[in-house]
Amino acid sequence: MKKFIAILAAGAAVIVAVVLVRTATFTSSQVEVEPVTLIEIDAGEAAQHLATALSFRTISHQDPADFVAAPFEAFRRFLADTYPRMHRALSLEVVNDYSLLYTWEGTDLALPPIILLAHMDVVPVDPATIDDWIQPPYGGVVADGYVWGRGAIDNKGGLMGIVEAVERLLANGFAPERTIYIAFGHDEEIGGRNGAVLMANMLQERGVKPVFLLDEGGFIAHGIIVGVDPPVAMLGVAEKGYFTVELAVRTGGGHSSRPPDHTGLGILARAVVRLEENQFDASIKSPVREQLATLGPYMPLARKVVLANLWLFSGLVKARFLADPLNAASIRTTTAVTMATGSSKENILPIIATMIVNFRILPGQTSRDVLAHIERVIDDPQVTITTVGFASEPSPVSDIGGDIYGLLSRTIREVFPSAVVAPNMVLGATDSRHYVALTDEIYRFYPVVLGPEDTQRFHGTNERLGVENFAQVVQFFARLLKVSAAG
Ligand SMILES: [Zn+2]
Repeated sequence: MKKFIAILAAGAAVIVAVVLVRTATFTSSQVEVEPVTLIEIDAGEAAQHLATALSFRTISHQDPADFVAAPFEAFRRFLADTYPRMHRALSLEVVNDYSLLYTWEGTDLALPPIILLAHMDVVPVDPATIDDWIQPPYGGVVADGYVWGRGAIDNKGGLMGIVEAVERLLANGFAPERTIYIAFGHDEEIGGRNGAVLMANMLQERGVKPVFLLDEGGFIAHGIIVGVDPPVAMLGVAEKGYFTVELAVRTGGGHSSRPPDHTGLGILARAVVRLEENQFDASIKSPVREQLATLGPYMPLARKVVLANLWLFSGLVKARFLADPLNAASIRTTTAVTMATGSSKENILPIIATMIVNFRILPGQTSRDVLAHIERVIDDPQVTITTVGFASEPSPVSDIGGDIYGLLSRTIREVFPSAVVAPNMVLGATDSRHYVALTDEIYRFYPVVLGPEDTQRFHGTNERLGVENFAQVVQFFARLLKVSAAG
């Protein structure tokens, strides 16, 4: 017995020692950067340009029949008028009438090129919220230090940051050694099939193999990550997949005064409750694992101890993640029941009842895995399961800590010296998913700074981008192109 207690005590001492050593050596992994001179920007003038860009109603509606072409054409003319140097030096192909593919030919065609993406379309403003806007969503207003309007963050801030940077670089006589492709999609918000898909195919047919591709999807989180004081540059290195199924039950229908025990909707309700009660397994995998390793050293001691020792505490961390839907989404494939249909009248039994369930797939799983899970969990031959819409598989995870990751980290910290750069998994979908055949080196980031109350603004009300922040966005793209396109 004594011997047993001694062994137990020795074991505990070893565990404590490992935990302490791991915690003590759990330190910042940020690249050190020297101060650099950034391109000079007239922040007020750049903000005016962005404001004007927001006044074009380049809206992607859910129903393609609602599409209005004129604002897209007017926006294209605005770009040509506002950025004359860019439109002289770069060639422009208008793809499928509205998407824009610019080529800035490099002086050394032997070097692999760079691809930058952004999208010009925006989501509609919900008419019910129009009175809640402090400034009109398409007013093109600069006020109180911000540029206000739909698309300020998602994603005209990014698009305009790129064109402002190109124009400034050209004014300064910059000529890239690498070719730079700049692709602006016009239907990202409804899947990118008429824009990004076609541009990606064109580039692939031309044999373009970029050294890296940068799209939207990451941002600088300030005061959002609990326990971390410095701003965190969330560099998107992966994105989740997207998959939707329709569940349907066909029954006899009839009058609701003589119903069966379970109508079609009742049968479906049981099916979706099974799905919700049998969630996908959670696991802390790349890139969330590396994100925690990067941010842990900046956290208070208790969290630091836990994150430095995931070998011991991963169960605890998982439980904490699962307690909050936003965090849960980054460690498992999510299940969201979003739509339902029944009969057309309250006293008619449904002949066909349907429900729609949307899944966001964690890297490492596939839509086939998800379908197998659905069939196994529902386990009801009355329920027909059909895939609807366009599925996209989760992206590969880009090389965290490789050359391109390092290049982006350095550039971010040259413009934002206090920022901690951390790898991130993008929960939504971006146009970059259509380019996976061209390169493994896909990153999703542009340096819009968001605070705790700002994350509701994009796709929501009072979307805005700070005037000073926009100048930093321009400086970031200018610095990135200068460093990365120079051989
Ligand atoms: Zn977007």
